[in-house]
Amino acid sequence: MNRKFTRREFGMMAGAGVAASTLAAPAIGQAKPKLVVVGGGPGGATVARYVAKDSKGAIDVTLIEANARHTTCFFSNLYIGGLRSFDSITHGYDKLKSDYGINVVQAFAIGVDAARRTVTVAGGETFSYDKLVVAPGIDFEYDAYEGYSKEVAETFPHAWQAGPQSQILRRQLEAMEDGGVFLIAPPPNPFRCPPGPYERISLVAQYLKQNKPRSKIIAVDAKDKFSKQALFQEGWARHYEGMIEWLPLNITGGVKKVDVRGKTLHTGGESFKGDVINIIPPQRAGAIALAAGLANESGWCPIDPFTMASTRVPHAYVIGDSSIAAQMPKSGFSANSQAKACAMAIRAALTGSRAFEPRYSNTCWSLIANGDGVKVGASYQATKEKIASTDTFISKTGEDAATRTATAEEAEGWYAGIVADIFG
Ligand SMILES: Cc1cc2nc3c(=O)[nH]c(=O)nc-3n(C[C@H](O)[C@H](O)[C@H](O)COP(=O)(O)OP(=O)(O)OC[C@H]3O[C@@H](n4cnc5c(N)ncnc54)[C@H](O)[C@@H]3O)c2cc1C
Repeated sequence: MNRKFTRREFGMMAGAGVAASTLAAPAIGQAKPKLVVVGGGPGGATVARYVAKDSKGAIDVTLIEANARHTTCFFSNLYIGGLRSFDSITHGYDKLKSDYGINVVQAFAIGVDAARRTVTVAGGETFSYDKLVVAPGIDFEYDAYEGYSKEVAETFPHAWQAGPQSQILRRQLEAMEDGGVFLIAPPPNPFRCPPGPYERISLVAQYLKQNKPRSKIIAVDAKDKFSKQALFQEGWARHYEGMIEWLPLNITGGVKKVDVRGKTLHTGGESFKGDVINIIPPQRAGAIALAAGLANESGWCPIDPFTMASTRVPHAYVIGDSSIAAQMPKSGFSANSQAKACAMAIRAALTGSRAFEPRYSNTCWSLIANGDGVKVGASYQATKEKIASTDTFISKTGEDAATRTATAEEAEGWYAGIVADIFG
């Protein structure tokens, strides 16, 4: 990528009050500083776009992403529940290439050499960097339950990385007989999208109520409480009376063993049979983060709260679900917010541009039924120890229908806005 500045862009740079010298644009013939980003989800694609956009060509940006297109996990429950098409939650990288000059490489990163500052992808090609962002999302603890494995997840899908897994779950729900049991096993903390399993229960319930009303949902949880619990349970009683049975850890002891042939989940005590079984296993940072030495013994990656820089590997940053962002939940909103702070820090490090104190925020909307939306959110501040919440808000139980409809509409608006901010 050797894009020349247009006269207008130079004008904009001067107009923004950025002295040309602080941008440290390389002299003719001198190589530009290089940013390599691994993972083109809400975290990685946003950081790539913001660095490319705001450095106006002064930094060479390469985005390494395993897939040609990204299906967002957010709104994938709407797809599973029949409220959205698969295409409407799937996005390509064309604009990042054409409008921002990002070098998008479709490949799976398998290793990082921190001393040489290179990333290697399957097939052997290497990419050198001055700064590296690792944003691979999550991976799963497939050995958490006896009888469970990556292969079993093709039969009992997690659908916790959106894409083919979401399609399997949708097809299974469509094929289920009326009167069947949808069995779901939400994961222990910490995990991607704390309200996500409960939004899934809600939207599966809505689909079943409309199409297979004699069916039941049983949730065998690995926790005793969950995000927005009062709101969800109030909504379940209102919309889906008698359909959903949520069982906390202290009742069942959690899933211990998975029997694929018998379509059964065994806990410490009772066993549960399902017609469609959705196991969402325990999670950790994406494999490349572990391979690169970015994760600590918790399986997640510690970061500097001000910049998202790794505290373990020099010149590397971790954003999104793989990072330990303390009080920020693992959400698409958080990943996008962290990416912007990280982009500012990287530009400052590579070009000498000014960095301001980062401001982080998050809102997680959930649908309890079509047009019945609730939300929880906060603003966050970087402190020496962690990213700490400064104020929080949450929908209230007993809200009127108009408020809930407005919240659901807000979520639709947010989706349109954030995918434009991520993918251009
Ligand atoms: C059902 C569900 C509902 C959700 N709803 C919401 C919501 O309403 N609001 C919200 O804010 N969040 C929601 N989330 C959470 C949100 O989707 C995640 O927090 C977010 O996707 C995290 O972004 P990320 O960039 O860290 O990871 P990801 O979105 O997982 O992106 C990582 C990318 O990296 C790529 N990758 C991984 N490893 C490699 C490698 N080695 N080489 C190359 N590429 C690689 C992957 O292919 C992927 O494209 C939901 C999640 C789920 C599962």
